[in-house]
This record gives sequence, structure tokens and C-alpha cells, in this order.
Amino acid sequence: MYRVVVIGGGWSGCAAALTAKKAGADVTLLEKTDLLLGLGNVGGIMRNNGRFTAAEENIAMGAGDLFAITDKCSRHINIDFPGHKHASLYDVTKVEPCVRRLLREKGIDVRLMARAVDVVTRKKNKQRGGRDGESVIEKIVLAGGEEIEGDVFVETTGSTGPMGNCLTYGNGCCMCILRCPAFGPRVSISAKAGGSDIMGKRKDGSFGAFSGSGKLEKRSLSEELQHQLNETGVAVVPLPEKAIKREKLDMKVCKQYALNEYAENIVLLDTGYAKIMTPFFDLETLRQVPGFEDARYVDPYAGGKGNSIRYLSVAERENTMKAAGIENLFCGGEKSGLFVGHTEAISTGSLAGHNAVRYLKGMKMLELPIGIAIGDLISFANESLKTDDGLMSRYTFAGAEYFKRMKEKGLYSTDAEEISAKVRRYGVDNIYEEQLI
Ligand SMILES: Cc1cc2nc3c(=O)[nH]c(=O)nc-3n(C[C@H](O)[C@H](O)[C@H](O)COP(=O)(O)OP(=O)(O)OC[C@H]3O[C@@H](n4cnc5c(N)ncnc54)[C@H](O)[C@@H]3O)c2cc1C
Repeated sequence: MYRVVVIGGGWSGCAAALTAKKAGADVTLLEKTDLLLGLGNVGGIMRNNGRFTAAEENIAMGAGDLFAITDKCSRHINIDFPGHKHASLYDVTKVEPCVRRLLREKGIDVRLMARAVDVVTRKKNKQRGGRDGESVIEKIVLAGGEEIEGDVFVETTGSTGPMGNCLTYGNGCCMCILRCPAFGPRVSISAKAGGSDIMGKRKDGSFGAFSGSGKLEKRSLSEELQHQLNETGVAVVPLPEKAIKREKLDMKVCKQYALNEYAENIVLLDTGYAKIMTPFFDLETLRQVPGFEDARYVDPYAGGKGNSIRYLSVAERENTMKAAGIENLFCGGEKSGLFVGHTEAISTGSLAGHNAVRYLKGMKMLELPIGIAIGDLISFANESLKTDDGLMSRYTFAGAEYFKRMKEKGLYSTDAEEISAKVRRYGVDNIYEEQLI
């Protein structure tokens, strides 16, 4: 029996579970809340800028299932908004049940309200092939005491929470979708197993970053704004001078939205709710803007005051997504770098799940070629973490430095056939479809 245990059911964990299952393993997915998709329940923007290329690369490599769902659940496709082109916006209220059904149909053992709190490890004997006395995880311990045995583990617990982090580095618990007070805190499996976690920084040297957007209840906005959002997907509403707070641009995770347009205007996107592209906005001030007189936050509940704090728990890893210092732990998503985005989480998670099975089979692990965007992002983000500047950056196909790099290196394309041909040329087409066991 080849048992893969994935800890954390966000986009990266779901992607890892799928590729590990396709490669032939028995897969258990542990998620601490009652919902899969983690931050994916409050996001929605796909295929914007370089994410289009990365989505098509994943599809060509055989990790297309989750993109089929986000495409199917899109309320708007091929839209532009400041700094972003050809985006699609999935309906955040529709996507989670589709993913949960898919995973169960594929035979993945999805365990909800199963929070990992500890690991049981042993040291590998160097003579028996252990690398420099790396530790080996034998079991995951759940809150409540149940132990889950596995042969290889994939950590995709993200970087949000516990509440103490939001208190120390932010404005307190803002009641985000991860609902730590109800479901318990995030735990770093890599740290529990003896690895060391890296913390992202802000420009002023302080740790972590605020999540960069929230959701307003669409019905709490004026009829006119609702209509515009439903019809076009986007509304850009100028702010009065006294309500403009440019310093907020430096606080946020999403460097791709650190553009003046996002300080001078309220940018709304229709993801089922009205996604407001700013970390938080004082409700009293917001209600003075025409169209927002009755506005109300639905995510995070305390979006008038703060947002979640992220990027405080990145595992050191190799470009195969294997965690450093732990022989049988792989990682994906925000756990594996200062990555922002659903597409980035699916890209890294898919590789982690696939390589977990290669490890079990004693096969050479896959490193994606840097001639395709996903391979380049994975290796570039890893290299950058070694510098102070790199710790202040965030890595996304959607904008900021990495999208610039994509364009300079000729990695950006919106031609699906061209992207698929390139993936084939590098010999990694349908690689995730291969059954290894
Ligand atoms: C408000 C907001 C809006 C965003 N909008 C967009 C967008 O429009 N487009 C986009 O591409 N990106 C967006 N992002 C970023 C994107 O959502 C994330 O980068 C990405 O989804 C991270 O995925 P992940 O799987 O790495 O982590 P997460 O989504 O954080 O998933 C981690 C999962 O692990 C679980 N977990 C944690 N600890 C444990 C434990 N001990 N045991 C078991 N389970 C555990 C958590 O409950 C969670 O479900 C947004 C983020 C936020 C916060």
C-alpha cells in the first residue's frame, strides 16, 4: 500500500491530492475546517495576466481538473480591470462543492474537521539511505488524539493564522474564512517535524502581510453598482481625496494590485459577492461614498478594521517541492514560498503530489523545466528567498516583478496551442496523468 497524506485542503492541497491519486497512491486529505479550498473560498480571480499561461501549462501537463471547475464556475470571462487583462472571475459560492465532489469521485478520502496538531517522527539511519540524518514522518496526530499513518506527507496548510499572528502582526482576528476560533489554529507540520520555517517581510522590515481584498454583500450596494457588476464584472469608483490612503498599498500581500488606481478608487469585482480590492476599509468612511451608503462586509466579517495576516510560515524546500531536512515531506502553495494565488497554489501543489508518489516508488523526482513559467516561478521564488529583498517580495504570475520577468523571458503567452506545444517540447505533456503505481 502506498499512502499519501495531504495536510490542508486549500487549492494546493486539493491539487496535490489529485495528482497523487492519478499517480496511483491511496490518498487521505486532512482539512481543519468544514470547507475545502481555504482562501479559495474568498478569491475568484483566475487567468489574469501570466496566470492564463500557467493555467494552460497545468492543463497540458495533465493537471486540468481544477481549472475545468474554475472555468465552469466563472461568472465573467475575459475581462480587464486596472493592471490586469483577460481575467475570469469564478463564483466563490459555487466552486467548493464542485471540488469536494470531484475529489470524492476520484476516491480521495477527504476528512473535514480533521486538524493536524502534531507529528510522530523518527531519524533515518544514514547507512540505510537517509540523507544527513533527515527525519522521517510516521504519523500525523489530529486534535482529539487520532493518529493518521502514511508513507509520505504533503503539507499544504497555507500561511494564514493562527490568531496570535493576526494579533501580533495585524489588527487582530478579523474573522476570516479559516475561522480559527471555531476550528482551531494552523499548525506548521514542517516545523513540528524539525524543519525551519521562513517568514516573509514587509518593506519596513516587519513580518507578514495583510491580505489584499475583502467582500461586500452585493445587495448592500446601490442598484446601479449591482447592475454594473452583474453586467460587466467590474466597477471602478473614484474616492474623495480625504479617503485616499496610499500607504495601504505597501501593506498588502498582492503586489500585483499595488498600483495607484487601487488607492485612488474603489475597485470592485463580481465574484458572487462584490470583491473590494483593498485590505480593509473603515465602514463609516466607505458609507460616505455614493453607492456605498448601506455597504456591509461579508468577508472578513471585520473587514472594516483589518484582514488576515499571511506569509509567516514558509518551509525551506527543493525545486521538487520536497521539504528540506525531512525525508518524506513535500509542500505546496503558500507553505512552499511567498506565492500569491490560486493558480500558483494549484501549480505547486500538483508537483508536490506527483513527486510524493515518485518518492514512494524510489524514482527520480521531477523538476519542472525553467523554460515553462511554472518551472521558472518555482525555482526563481526559491532562489529569491535567500535575499532580504526576496523576503519582501511576493511571487505571482499575475503581476509585479514576476510577471515582468515572465514577459522578459518570453514565458508569457495567451495562445493555448502554443503553450501546449511548448510543454510537449519540454517532454512534460500529460506527465501528471501517468500512473506510477
Ligand atoms: C481575501 C483574499 C482574496 C484572494 N483573492 C485571490 C484571487 O482572487 N485570485 C487568486 O489567485 N488568489 C487570491 N488570493 C490568494 C489565494 O487565495 C491564496 O494564495 C491561495 O488560495 C493559497 O492556497 P493554499 O492552498 O496555499 O493555502 P490556503 O488556502 O490557506 O489553504 C490551507 C488550508 O489548510 C488548512 N489547514 C491549516 N492548518 C491545518 C491543520 N493543522 N490541519 C489541517 N488543515 C489545516 C486550512 O484550513 C486551509 O483550508 C486571495 C487571498 C485572500 C485572503
